[in-house]
Amino acid sequence: MESKEIADLADEVIEEHKDLWWIVRSGVRIAFLRSSKLKKSKGRLVCGECILVKENYKWCCPYDFMVILYGPCTAGMTEAQIKILLYHELLHIGIRGQDDDGRPVYRVVPHDVEDFRTIIDRYGIDWAEPYKRNQQ
Ligand SMILES: [Zn+2]
Repeated sequence: MESKEIADLADEVIEEHKDLWWIVRSGVRIAFLRSSKLKKSKGRLVCGECILVKENYKWCCPYDFMVILYGPCTAGMTEAQIKILLYHELLHIGIRGQDDDGRPVYRVVPHDVEDFRTIIDRYGIDWAEPYKRNQQ
């Protein structure tokens, strides 16, 4: 279900994060949706999702992306947590290039971190970066 409440919060999030301002300038069309579905992935509850609308669905879905927040996971979240979640989902929005007519071709930006908490706590988030190899 479309949610004006989430769209309004997303506007605030974009305004508060300079790295998202390009989203407004690019004219990317984002639908903000709330779902009551209990969604799981790899055994874990999914709180939010950013889905690229495929080209062949655009005739019926006039958006480039759908950002969906799932009720069962977000129910107990504070507004501040919901805004961090929205920031996360908006960071998934990216541009791959341009089509023949000069229109942007979008992509879902993958996460740049997948690790164990204990590794990040102990060795920092960049533990595998080349500049760190010379220091250890
Ligand atoms: Zn994500």
